[in-house]
Amino acid sequence: MLPFIRKDLAELAAYTPHPGGASGESAHSESAIDRLDTNECPYDLPAELKQKLAWTYQQLIETNRYPDGGHAALKEAIAQYANESLNTAGLGAESISLPPLNKGGLGAVPQPKTALTADNISVGNGSDELIRSLLIATCLGGAGSIFVANPTFSMYGIIAQTLGIPVVSAGRNAETFEIDIEAAKRAMGQNQNSPVRVVFAVHPNSPTANALTADEIEWLSSLPPQILVVIDEAYFEFSQNTLADRLKQHPNWIILRTFSKAFRLASMRVGYAIANPELAAALEKIRLPYNLPAFSQTAAEFALAQRQLLLAVIPEIIAERAKLIAALTQHQKLQVWPSAANFVYLRVKAGEGESAEREHKQIMQQLKERGTLIRHTGGGLRITVGSPEENQRTCDRISGILT
Ligand SMILES: *Cc1c(COP(=O)(O)O)cnc(C)c1O
Repeated sequence: MLPFIRKDLAELAAYTPHPGGASGESAHSESAIDRLDTNECPYDLPAELKQKLAWTYQQLIETNRYPDGGHAALKEAIAQYANESLNTAGLGAESISLPPLNKGGLGAVPQPKTALTADNISVGNGSDELIRSLLIATCLGGAGSIFVANPTFSMYGIIAQTLGIPVVSAGRNAETFEIDIEAAKRAMGQNQNSPVRVVFAVHPNSPTANALTADEIEWLSSLPPQILVVIDEAYFEFSQNTLADRLKQHPNWIILRTFSKAFRLASMRVGYAIANPELAAALEKIRLPYNLPAFSQTAAEFALAQRQLLLAVIPEIIAERAKLIAALTQHQKLQVWPSAANFVYLRVKAGEGESAEREHKQIMQQLKERGTLIRHTGGGLRITVGSPEENQRTCDRISGILT
């Protein structure tokens, strides 16, 4: 062990990212694998859009110059997109049925428009960077700990640990995966030496795919102003369900979103936060000056400008999700949950003396041998909704394994 490395860091197991093109296999054999383990959109940018983007790169980007360190144009575009999401889905995908944004029962009366501006936005090198900036801003140097309800997105805990920030956790309801609010209150009431400063909630949650319920939202609303509530809406475009309209009411809330999922730009690493201007400014203070390459900024602006086209596949993915759930539910052995995202969560119903976890591992392994990557996490299996062909292969391969 290197004597100058922090002890707690030396003991921390690193997150193993997806190998991508660097897996040691050729690009060709890589493309033959169904990569359904990281919840990306199954489709690349359409070829003619990629070409236009390449043209933009050639004509407009001076590679010898630093990029726009303030992300001005991108922030403007994001604010506009986020405003659309306040009142409607704003996706131009009419076939998606929209859940009511306000369960309070205003019915068809339009919500008052809370116009967001660039001052409400901070952009990160993936939302992972924003998570780290938030933790630096709130908890570093013994200032506090974070709370997560497991199973959930693992990066919160991992990033906290790399910064020496304690992680307080509670579980979820075994049937619905709702946060166990009583357990959360107990856990958060305990360590007063390092009070919880940040509560993370994914909406809808990963890996379990459930959106926040009215009870959970009420609990988050009841948290005191000295606790920051992070609502991670990485899957917003699939759920059509946002809490961005509550930011005005709750200055201690922040919404995180990403271009890595529905917008097909996982390779570009662009995430953003929507928050009150004071909080957005704190994030701006912490981030590195040129955190986002010019090409990534351009690609994200481009994706927003083309959002009608790019998000038009969302109804297909939602329909495919229903088909996948229906097919998997046919297996007596599997418990499959509903999903508000672009992935499906399931567990093996283990009989007497059987270990569900061992079977999960086996299924994941056997799927891998057949050419489908899925994720074994949180005591179950998470499968990304892919293209219709990929989903068919997933169903066939699982049937082959289980029978
Ligand atoms: C995929 C995902 C993200 C996105 O992370 P990026 O760093 O923007 O790629 C964030 N939160 C959750 C819960 C996710 O699943």
